[in-house]
Order: sequence, then structure tokens, then C-alpha cells
Amino acid sequence: MIVEMRKNATQDEIDEVIQRARSLDLDVQLNSGTDKAVVAILGKDTGKLSTDIFAVLPGVESVSRIMKPYKLASREFKAEDSVVSVGDIEIGGRRIVIMAGPCAVESEEQLMEATEVVKSAGACIVRGGAFKPRTSPFSFQGLEKKGLELLAQARERFGVPVITEVVDTHDVNQVAKYADVLQIGARNMQNYALLTQVGKKKCPAVLKRGLSATVTEWLTAADYLLAEGNNKVILCERGIRTFENSIRFSLDISSIPVVKKSSHLPLIVDPSHAAGHYSLVPAMAKAAIAAGADGLLIEVHPNPKEALVDGLQALTPSDFSRLMEKLRAIAKSVGRYI
Ligand code: PEP
Ligand code: MN
Repeated sequence: MIVEMRKNATQDEIDEVIQRARSLDLDVQLNSGTDKAVVAILGKDTGKLSTDIFAVLPGVESVSRIMKPYKLASREFKAEDSVVSVGDIEIGGRRIVIMAGPCAVESEEQLMEATEVVKSAGACIVRGGAFKPRTSPFSFQGLEKKGLELLAQARERFGVPVITEVVDTHDVNQVAKYADVLQIGARNMQNYALLTQVGKKKCPAVLKRGLSATVTEWLTAADYLLAEGNNKVILCERGIRTFENSIRFSLDISSIPVVKKSSHLPLIVDPSHAAGHYSLVPAMAKAAIAAGADGLLIEVHPNPKEALVDGLQALTPSDFSRLMEKLRAIAKSVGRYI
């Protein structure tokens, strides 16, 4: 249930709504808003309650029910776009934020070189997996703690924030100590224990869309992070499984306007994992920006032929620099900049 307060509602009036909800054993999330406060009343039995319980309270403008399964991620709860800050970088504002780097952290030399090239081409956040969720248990699983240390070293040396994936609830504290942004991978989109842990950390988090998740399931998964009071959630479209097998995953460009219409959360796109092949990445990256994405997550490797993971889809440094030039022009044409 959504309780919209009047523009001039006092703090006491807002508190009364919150108190009333708590007295009924319901959860509450407050969006203080720039214009007016909105209180989300959450709980499994809110459907049975009359909206009048809140409508009669002083300072309340209107009470409505959110019919969608996701509540906190919805525009009904928060009409204005959310902007997530990572240091002084804002995701969801006019700037298109480019995150780039290797699929996996492989060595000090590889990560430092990758960081240097992506930064000089204009990326402002560096990616690199220290824990890799691999389809086969016999594949390279990542450097783990050593990988985290190298990411911290790259951040220190080049002054760029880093994003890395957390795959297990037990690693959340450790990964959050080293990384500026936690990535929840496609395979973990519905790992609710992990979502709750990352929610509790209240640090910037990228939530990838599951391989076969609908937009509604994805936004409802985002509610797990938001419900813990973490409002630094960034969605990431990375392609879904369809009948089409000419590409690794079908990049669902249509989810960009759909998410933008339904949710206030910033949305980035990962063209690399959808493409599966370096030659397809540029067109998909350009399409994502043209369609309204707030940023991109792109795999770049100093020497893709020697990559331990996802070498086929990694851009070389020079391909990445060329792509960045094209992306700048597209960003400009949609009233944004990189
Ligand atoms: C990744 O970004 O390295 C990754 C494993 O992506 P996804 O979870 O989208 O497959
Ligand atoms: Mn990868």
C-alpha cells in the first residue's frame, strides 16, 4: 500500500503513519522525495486492510495499492529517477557511466594494464571478477582473495572505483571491504539470501537480470535489496535465453524502455555477455545507449587471445577506444554525455 503525504505534511504526520503501520505489524519504507513524502506499507496481509486506516490520518493526501508484485522498485513508490553515487560518479544522471575491464582478474600485470587502457579511453569504473560463477566446476574459478587485493591495488594506483561479483553470502563482507560496487550475477538474481545480505551492506549493487527472468521477476528481486534499506541498486540487462542460438544470449533492448517506465532505478547494459563475440559488442553497446541505458558494463582484455575466461567476447584496448568515440556521439545525440 502506498500512502502519499500532502506536500506540506509535517514530520509528526509522517511519523504517525509509520507508527500506525508498525502497530499493525507491517513494514514501512519512506521515500522522503523532493516534492512530497511517500510511505510504502509492506506486509503479506496488506491486501486485507482497508486503505481508510491510513486515509483518515492527518497530512495524508491519498492511499493506493500497488498491484504489481514489486513495490519499492516501482515508480508508484518513487516517481523520480534514482541516482546512485559511487564516490563522485553518479549513475542514473545525465552522464552515461562506462564500466569496463576483464571478465576475470588473472594477474597483477593483466589487471593493471586493463585498468590503464580502459581508464584512458574514458571508462570511469573498472570491472574484474575475483570470484567467478562458472558453468563447469573444472573451469577457472577466479583468484578469489588475491583477485580482490589486486582490484584494491588497481583502484589505489589509478584512482578508479572497482566493481566485482559476489557469489556467496559468506563472502559479502570480504568483497565489500575491497570493492566499491558489488555485482550480483545473472545466476544469482534469485538467490534471496545473497540479495538480503547485500541489501544489509547498503553499498552500491549491480543486479544482473537472470538468464530467463522476466522484467517483473527482476524488479521483484530488486525489492529484496531495497527492503533491507539499500537504495543504491543499479539494474543490469545482460541478455536472456531465447530460442535464438546465433548469439550467446538475446539482448533484450526492449527491457530498457520497459524498466524505465516501471521503475525509478538506474539501468546499465552488459553487451558482452549477451554477444558472446567481440564483433557483436559495439552494435549492441550503441543500441543500448540509444535506447536509454544509463551505462554499460563491457569486457576488455589487454590480450583477449590469452584470456582465461570469456576471451572471445573481450574487446581489445584499441577496439574499446574506437567504440568509446562512437558511444560519445550517440550519447550526445540522446542529450547525454560520457
Ligand atoms: C560477469 O559479468 O562476469 C558475469 C559472469 O556475468 P553474468 O552474471 O551476466 O553471466
Ligand atoms: Mn565474463
